[in-house]
Amino acid sequence: MSDAYEDLIEGYRTFRREYLDKRFEAYRAWASKGQNPRTLIIGCSDSRVNPAILTHAGLGEIFVVNNVANIVPPYEKGKSHHKSLGAAIQFAVNHLKVEHIIVLGHSGCGGIRALMTDDAGQRFDAGEDDYIADWVSILQPAKDIVCACCDASTSQDDKLRLAEMEGVLVSIRYLAGYPWVRQAIEAGTLSLHAWYFHVDSGELRSYRPEEGRFKPL
Ligand SMILES: [Zn+2]
Repeated sequence: MSDAYEDLIEGYRTFRREYLDKRFEAYRAWASKGQNPRTLIIGCSDSRVNPAILTHAGLGEIFVVNNVANIVPPYEKGKSHHKSLGAAIQFAVNHLKVEHIIVLGHSGCGGIRALMTDDAGQRFDAGEDDYIADWVSILQPAKDIVCACCDASTSQDDKLRLAEMEGVLVSIRYLAGYPWVRQAIEAGTLSLHAWYFHVDSGELRSYRPEEGRFKPL
């Protein structure tokens, strides 16, 4: 079995061959012009859901933020506890002038599972230092929706898939509450998109507000 760290270094060598040897002129252009991505993607940290691979985006094309369960916390004026994500959103909208922000959820999300199983006492780690439970609790409104519309006949898998999708919609709602985002939407320069990647089938879906559901792209 190969060593994971050595695999990364071998991958880096492939990157050098592909970009610095074969496509040197293009690489120099990317490097010298500075970044000008037109899209921000907020995705999960899950290793199977890589926005650049999923969209086949090249260097400089997408600005990416990853966190557990692709969560956008609600805007808090002047006292945000989540400055890292807020700073990325502010930079992308105000300085990079991105035209699209995509929140990318996915099936089999461990963060959403943590959110949905908390009541059963199945927290990842016990005690006050459970950062995971505290973080995913931001999506409590998604959990509330799932609990309200499911009954005993709904399988746990179906509840999780629904929670993953509702979680994306909650994050989109919170995202629209950031003043820079709201202003850009009102100016007609920014659009928000909710995406959901089904890992098993490889199918990517986009939320259609007019139909109230995610549909395959
Ligand atoms: Zn995830």
